[in-house]
Amino acid sequence: MSDFVSCQECEAIVQELRDAYADAWSFSGQESKDAWVATYKMIGGTEEDATRAEDLAPAAQFREPLRINRAIHRKFAHEARSGHKVPWAPEY
Ligand SMILES: [Zn+2]
Repeated sequence: MSDFVSCQECEAIVQELRDAYADAWSFSGQESKDAWVATYKMIGGTEEDATRAEDLAPAAQFREPLRINRAIHRKFAHEARSGHKVPWAPEY
């Protein structure tokens, strides 16, 4: 992919997101996963969208939602600032 650009910050963000989700996934029910992934796919990928996602995903009850939200905000902020596309999407 020609638009695949990454840097140390991208890699750090991907790692943080993976860790946050892996942790959240292991303590959450399928319903929470579905709700969050559906919401994430609906949003457009800006910081405003990330904030909206927090409002739109009341069914997602994670043990550490703040950790995920922080990581997602960091992802969008870095993408907006650098023009990079952090190579990450929610997984089951
Ligand atoms: Zn980057």
